Amino acid sequence: MNIFEQRKDREQKIAQALLNVKFLVAIGSGKGGVGKSTVAANLAISLAKIGFKVGLADVDIYGPSIPTLFNIENQEVLGEEIDGKLHFLPIEKFGIKLMSIGFFVDSSKALMWRGPMASNTIIQMVSETLWGELDYLIFDMPPGTGDIQLTLSSQFKLSGAVFVSTAQQLSIADVRRAVNMFTSDEIKIPILGLVENMAYFVPKELPNNKYYIFGKGGCEKLSKELDIELLEQIPISKEISETNDNGNPISLNSDSIESNSFLSLARKINNKLNNQ
Ligand code: ADP
Repeated sequence: MNIFEQRKDREQKIAQALLNVKFLVAIGSGKGGVGKSTVAANLAISLAKIGFKVGLADVDIYGPSIPTLFNIENQEVLGEEIDGKLHFLPIEKFGIKLMSIGFFVDSSKALMWRGPMASNTIIQMVSETLWGELDYLIFDMPPGTGDIQLTLSSQFKLSGAVFVSTAQQLSIADVRRAVNMFTSDEIKIPILGLVENMAYFVPKELPNNKYYIFGKGGCEKLSKELDIELLEQIPISKEISETNDNGNPISLNSDSIESNSFLSLARKINNKLNNQ
């Protein structure tokens, strides 16, 4: 097969695997550590709470966190043979179909991978997983704007992208670059909006006080500058951190400020995609 045939073959495989998926949504960020995976996991759970069929593909090859967030780190990925070809069965937890690049590669070694090798591995994982019928497939993307992000966003035919940032200048500068990449002529993916994570802290004993630890207004300013909606401001909280570490993301608890923020985010994204 020459390079063009290979590309065509790959596109067909992706299209076939995602044939019954209605919306493909990428969760991106300029930097690592801003809460991209936290948002991806809680968004997936919130969409499932509304009643949608949801899958979550963790393609953050440099730091796959979904196995930890769903406490499925040691789970074995099973295969199923269809027409002589082996496919991966997603792991189902909390009603969500999960697959992570972390099951297949050692992320400490992935840092040394060249772009095409990483992209091919990710594309293979996504296109060989039996996703079945889904309303939403959420992609937890690698942070930043390299070759891998470029290839993935053009190959997956995404319905839209959401960016996560903190209010710090360093995080914001990188989000600006990422948004510009997604909206460039080669990719042209609709930007659904921005999520400010760790936006403020509310002490339990002073519930009416909000402390903007990383500064106030940074994401609001960016959203105006780039003309994208600031969809939600998620507080920094011990509960989010603890539930993440325990593998039971906060959105599984039905009533808290944090889970309501994620539910509101899910509703806004769903409205946007249905009215697009
Ligand atoms: P990324 O995917 O951007 O690398 P993660 O979602 O893995 O970021 O989050 C990085 C760390 O910050 C994790 O330890 C996570 O539990 C914690 N974290 C993320 N969001 C919050 C928050 N709103 N409040 C408290 N801790 C958070």
